[in-house]
Amino acid sequence: MLNKWIKLGLIYTGVLTLSSCSEPSDNTAPKTGTAATVDTHRILKSSPGAEWLSHSGGYDEQRHSPLAHITQNNVTDLGVTWTYDLATNRGVEATPIVVNGVMYVTSAWSLVYALDARSGEERWVYDPEVDKRVGVNACCDVVNRGVAVYGGKIFVGVIDGRLEALDAKTGAVVWSTVTVDQSKPYTITGAPRVVDGLVLIGNGGAELGVRGYISAYSAETGDLVWRFYTVPNPNKEPDGAASDAAFESVGNISWGDDGAWVTDGGGGTVWDSIVYDHIDDQIIFGVGNGSPWNRTIRDPAGGDNLFLSSIVAVDAKSGAYKWHFQTTPGDNWDYTATQSIILAELPLGKEGAPRRVVMQAPKNGFFYVLDAATGEFISGKPFGPQNWAQGLDANGRPIENPAARYAETPHTQIPGPFGAHNWHPMAYNPDLKLAYIPAQEIPETYAFDPLWASKPAKWNTGADFNTGVIVDLPAGITKFLRASLKGRLIAWDPAKQEARWSVEHGNAWNGGVLSTAGGLVFQGKLDGDFVAYNAGTGTKLWNHNLKSGGISGPTTYEIDGEQYVTITTGWGSGFALVTGYGFDKTVSPTMGKVVTFKLGATSTIPDPDLIEIEKTAKTDRFGTPNQLEAGMVHFARNCAVCHGALTISSGVLPDLRWSVYAGDADAWQAVVNEGVLADAGMVSFSKLLTAEEIEAVRAYVIAQAHNSLAEKAAEK
Ligand code: CA
Repeated sequence: MLNKWIKLGLIYTGVLTLSSCSEPSDNTAPKTGTAATVDTHRILKSSPGAEWLSHSGGYDEQRHSPLAHITQNNVTDLGVTWTYDLATNRGVEATPIVVNGVMYVTSAWSLVYALDARSGEERWVYDPEVDKRVGVNACCDVVNRGVAVYGGKIFVGVIDGRLEALDAKTGAVVWSTVTVDQSKPYTITGAPRVVDGLVLIGNGGAELGVRGYISAYSAETGDLVWRFYTVPNPNKEPDGAASDAAFESVGNISWGDDGAWVTDGGGGTVWDSIVYDHIDDQIIFGVGNGSPWNRTIRDPAGGDNLFLSSIVAVDAKSGAYKWHFQTTPGDNWDYTATQSIILAELPLGKEGAPRRVVMQAPKNGFFYVLDAATGEFISGKPFGPQNWAQGLDANGRPIENPAARYAETPHTQIPGPFGAHNWHPMAYNPDLKLAYIPAQEIPETYAFDPLWASKPAKWNTGADFNTGVIVDLPAGITKFLRASLKGRLIAWDPAKQEARWSVEHGNAWNGGVLSTAGGLVFQGKLDGDFVAYNAGTGTKLWNHNLKSGGISGPTTYEIDGEQYVTITTGWGSGFALVTGYGFDKTVSPTMGKVVTFKLGATSTIPDPDLIEIEKTAKTDRFGTPNQLEAGMVHFARNCAVCHGALTISSGVLPDLRWSVYAGDADAWQAVVNEGVLADAGMVSFSKLLTAEEIEAVRAYVIAQAHNSLAEKAAEK
């Protein structure tokens, strides 16, 4: 019996030019100044320090600050000094940038805010005025993880695929360029990085069928300088791009000749991690999963499919290929390698001499240490439970469990597509030589999708999300499923490849990490608990209730001798939307905030408004068993990633069980088929579903409303 319910767990997922020769010893760089003087030299020299000049503090992406005013001894005096209302009820994942006393931060729908970093006072707000209809292309909510600053400009990647440069003083648009084919379901949620006058940006969309790449644009003009594709073009012909030579030498041979991946792009989106290694003058970036997930469909020839699920290094100026390391050859499970990549020195050379390495804890559950200059595999060990591989061979290639390549038989696997670690930023303390991983345990039953057919602009994975699901689930199952999801913070010794300590978060998921020289590790959680831990032991020293989700990467900075810690908060994002982990109420636009702390401050975070929902079924249960079953399948394939698995909403987007539209067949068709609410983001699904199928979904939704009410009544 239990096995059956564990199998069900999984529905959650599917548905559920300044040259870089500047060395740190060079003292000529300005350590302070306005946004106008931020360049590669200044980011290398002063960051992170009093300011937070790049997405993860510095180009090495360590998210470790040398600031030590806040210590293990005084952290209990940390209090709220100001809050700023981002006025959004959607996911907030941004890490703020702080330059010369000004904070630049983003919110959902790619809005950019400039705030006084001492007081939170608003300087300017920029709204790119995104057409809300593009929201349906976002796999995991319309989030944005932050901006970059360089030469007096603020750079933002917009959810609809634009890259824009704003005047740091006024927020006025200096230039705007479209980086994607907007007829395809590309999105941008990641933060740009700027290196030697080049703005680096990738994109997302590998669940819906796109071809991934990273681009470098001139910070001055917005002109494209180079582009590196991560999967070959449909004919394996040159693109006239920086990646051409890499495909000719190593990439093309790892794909079959029939071009099966053409329709769905192949995937490999570069949606998050980008590192600048100034010693080797190279950009090191993480590449995402295949599209579709299922390799049998994507490439029946069964190759490794470079550069999916890989860490790739290219020349910073030309984008020319230097090396790659593929964490998951022939990805079949959404095992992206886009997670935080951190550059550091570890005592792994001869007689303990420092060796420059890159580290990553990707979705597949193994912690990798690679040589930064060459990509050579140094070591890799699982940082949590996994059952897809028996281990890694001497070259770091996984020794797969044969059952993991689900074919006739589904495979219940850990990690699932949410990964053993997702986008939540990892940090690294170079003094203690510990990496802090926001880890999680979320299994999935992977099954071949018998209904698979390539359809544009929809979830297209080739994996079936309905394995083991039935229309009338037993009472209590949703609580059981939610309780089976686990998150934890792991302090990982990368030299020894073992955990030093870990803290369990239960099913509160977790958030991004900040490490400080004060011997502290800061991390928020989905349940709003923002915690400071002793960096060496994991002992909890301080916490504060954020009254919202606290999943983004915190920032720290100093003004007039005082250290500040900031975290952006909000609800939504992929996990909350899908799992329906929520408030059981509708989330209002007061959920999204910037919250800043300092020692001795005593301000408070305003309570968010949560709107009560009238939980009544708007019509009687209807539909034949076949119709309900069909409705369940179509709901999981088309609706669940936004409105919640099993029809249980997070409170961000409408809970369809209680929707008035569900009570009326014509109104339901007007919304789902005709798209009358398209301006609000609910586009027409007429290209994906017939009127009959749309009515079947309504029957399923209404059945779930009645089931939920019966369950609630039985509890009383
Ligand atoms: Ca993915």
